[in-house]
Amino acid sequence: MSNNGRSSPDILEQRSRRPSARVRDSRLRMRALLLVLGAMTTGVGTVATAQSGSYAPHGSTKRQTQTTPRIAPAVESPVVTFAPTRLDGSSSIQLITTPPLTTLGTELISSIRKTHREFNALFGGITDIHNTLRLIDAEEFYAVTHLPTWTNAMFFRKQVVIPIDRSKPIDRMELERSLRHEYFHAITHSLSAGRCPGWLDEGLAQHIEGIPQEGLWRALAGWLGNNDMVPFERLARGFTKLPSEMVAPAYAQSLVAARMVRSQFGMGAVRAFLEQLKSGAQVESSFLHAFGIPATAFHKRVEENLRSGKFQQGDFG
Ligand SMILES: [Zn+2]
Repeated sequence: MSNNGRSSPDILEQRSRRPSARVRDSRLRMRALLLVLGAMTTGVGTVATAQSGSYAPHGSTKRQTQTTPRIAPAVESPVVTFAPTRLDGSSSIQLITTPPLTTLGTELISSIRKTHREFNALFGGITDIHNTLRLIDAEEFYAVTHLPTWTNAMFFRKQVVIPIDRSKPIDRMELERSLRHEYFHAITHSLSAGRCPGWLDEGLAQHIEGIPQEGLWRALAGWLGNNDMVPFERLARGFTKLPSEMVAPAYAQSLVAARMVRSQFGMGAVRAFLEQLKSGAQVESSFLHAFGIPATAFHKRVEENLRSGKFQQGDFG
């Protein structure tokens, strides 16, 4: 999810296969996340350096050990921090992980290099974007954060955080899907200084990750059978504070709206919109400037599309 330019808990991204269960108390989650990130940087940390752009095989990295003060009573894990890997457009991604996940981490960094290239083309050139990928053992992650075990990824303060459960086979497709989704948030966050409206951010991220989550359209159709569409004002910053029954429809509606933006205005206009926001302009004026129509008029179009039910046949207007 994203926020509107402030470092509020709304920027915490929590993804799941059960959209209806996404809502959590955001303050609790913020505290939990800070804890887990703290846990990963305390205790004995191992720093591994690798050549930017190409990882040295595990075991041949140059290591140094450093001891830092312990500040969190969390489960301890040694941490491996890699030198940032260069990406297209003077950008970079840094891997921070625990040793058992190092190999997986380097593979995911390779995926991000490709994804970054794809997003670079999608947005017509992106430069100087620097983020971190953190892999953490799922048991430790859930023990520290108390998040439900269906939480499978989050984006927070320029970090894509992914818990990995090593007790069962990794669903690589799902993992890559989560990575694409979260990394898309990382890009929009950089391009807009964290001000991309939640509905556009979540909608495009879902579009980019692949086939929509199962049950999404059903949830939206069910919602529209008894309610008006979710007001866009409620989708401005993030979905963590929505009533639980509204969350899945909110994700689905955002996907419909974002696909309409993409097909009607194009990604160049999206880029222009994000840059307007980054410059500090108001959302409404940025929308009008980038897309050529008032946001309220676009919301009306979305509503008509939703009422037509065409979105269920893949027609997004
Ligand atoms: Zn998201």
